[in-house]
Amino acid sequence: MTNTPVALTLNAGSSSLKFGLFSIGATPVAMAVGLVDSIGRTPTLKASFGAGMPPLGRDLTPAEASDHKSALATALALLRQHFPEAQVAVVGHRVVHGGPSYDGPMRLTPQVMAELRRLSPFAPIHQPHNLAGIDAAVAAFPDAVQVACFDTAFHRSHPWVNDTFALPRDYYDKGVRRYGFHGLSYDYISGELNRTAPLIHAGRVIVAHLGNGASMCAMLGGRSVASTMGFTALDGLPMGTRTGQIDPGVIFYLVQQEGMTIDEVRDLFYTRSGLLGLSGLSNDMRALEAAGSTQANEAIDYFVFRIRRELGGLAAALGGLDALVFCGGIGENSRLIRERVCEGMGWIGLDLDRARNAAGDTVISTDMSRARVMVIPTNEELVIARAAKKVVDADSACAAGRPNVRNT
Ligand code: ADP
Repeated sequence: MTNTPVALTLNAGSSSLKFGLFSIGATPVAMAVGLVDSIGRTPTLKASFGAGMPPLGRDLTPAEASDHKSALATALALLRQHFPEAQVAVVGHRVVHGGPSYDGPMRLTPQVMAELRRLSPFAPIHQPHNLAGIDAAVAAFPDAVQVACFDTAFHRSHPWVNDTFALPRDYYDKGVRRYGFHGLSYDYISGELNRTAPLIHAGRVIVAHLGNGASMCAMLGGRSVASTMGFTALDGLPMGTRTGQIDPGVIFYLVQQEGMTIDEVRDLFYTRSGLLGLSGLSNDMRALEAAGSTQANEAIDYFVFRIRRELGGLAAALGGLDALVFCGGIGENSRLIRERVCEGMGWIGLDLDRARNAAGDTVISTDMSRARVMVIPTNEELVIARAAKKVVDADSACAAGRPNVRNT
């Protein structure tokens, strides 16, 4: 282990920092994954360290995670305690927005950082936190290679009709486009399908990433052709606290008739809507499933209805359906949601096997089902670690005098 290079992966959200440590020998292998949550409020730390090691969880003092910088220092102290000899050669970062041109991971240079800062207004809730995570990592590992992995990159294969809004053309040129997000998750699922079910991978697949953030992606031959998220990670499915698709006329009404400021509308749409807003109870699907109240049930009804509606629309974009894949916290764990999404969907070729669904099998459709239904746990951290390894390998190849390696 001592001589094997190590990659640190960082995924900085608004109030959380997910981290992973991977040895990047022949293939990346996770040594540790963890989460600092509720940064700046009442922070907590969770981490697990490979097979056989008990997971760790504890409350942090406010000073241990008052901001992203101190949260990273706390995570690193934990990793150093467990792996005192690990030398971090590369840090891979999840970055929400890569704009219209970045279609793969990028090595972070001052020029790339400047471009990512320029994109911040496109993702004001996420991008500044991602960039704060990068700044903190550069300070902590000044000699390590830093790599950005974009949630938008996987969708750059969208055809123009799924990339544009019906606005005057110059807005498209200015970057007002349907970018799509959750790309690291879709990238992982596409790779897993290729590895385990190549015929399905080659066909028409819809992936439903259902977590606190939720979206769906239509893939043809493993590449994204359409997704439910658009210019921001607000569009499409309702989420834990986000509206999902909404008539923009509602914004005019809230501002002009109810006197709300744009910042108040943004806060309403991002943090007080979705499952939380509809249920008046929680953004957490487990709490809604357990509650059984009318409002909680209606929030679930709306969530399921919108998934089914998008399923039909994305299948139309694909010209049919060969497989539906569930992933994300809800997709991987909620048999109820999977069952309700697939109910009565025989017309589109889905025939769910209830016993397989209840057992949490990988394939949860019947053997007679025209389209396969699958559950594949996603792994965004591994996608970041792979990208980080690729950059380090490319550096080594360049140093060895092989110039035909792309400098990403
Ligand atoms: P994030 O987008 O923050 O990464 P996750 O992918 O971790 O979110 O998903 C969080 C969601 O998954 C929450 O709504 C949580 O309630 C839901 N979830 C986790 N386990 C279950 C379960 N057993 N049944 C239903 N929902 C679950």
